[in-house]
Amino acid sequence: MTSRPFVFDTQVFGRRPGAEKSYDLDLEAPADLGLPVFGVPEGSPIGLELRLEAVMDGVLATGTASVHAVGECVRCLRDVEEDFDCDFQELYLYEDAGEDELALEDEYLDLEPVLRDAVVLALPHNPLCDPDCPGLCPDCGARLADDPDHTHGDAIDPRWSALTHLTERPEE
Ligand SMILES: [Zn+2]
Ligand SMILES: [Zn+2]
Repeated sequence: MTSRPFVFDTQVFGRRPGAEKSYDLDLEAPADLGLPVFGVPEGSPIGLELRLEAVMDGVLATGTASVHAVGECVRCLRDVEEDFDCDFQELYLYEDAGEDELALEDEYLDLEPVLRDAVVLALPHNPLCDPDCPGLCPDCGARLADDPDHTHGDAIDPRWSALTHLTERPEE
């Protein structure tokens, strides 16, 4: 169990309330971290600052995971990469954890579910290369940000433009 990088042994500081231990670790991302459209590549570096503190009922885990996410702009499909700091604070009970609560397992604390939730919360669900990304030309698929004056000239009769609009390709 100790070979899992996001599992921590709480016996090293004990159960006396106030006892604590801090960690500053460089770890590797587990598989499937983040969102399908914007995720943290497996094996990419994660900086983890973590403080584990014994309280009355359990161990409080507080910290920040710094991750590097990659994905595609939802408007123009260009690659997007960005760093995020994902904050979390979660109580792991010594015992009697309910359905939505976490508990230690034989004095070990598995941070991975908390890390996963924190990363999903921190990442934008609709990543953009730029907040003002104009997307793609509906006629030819050109990236409009590269070519702001992009035009197909007068090829489209203005009388038909409303109709053209109706036949625009649906966004993929
Ligand atoms: Zn874009
Ligand atoms: Zn075009």
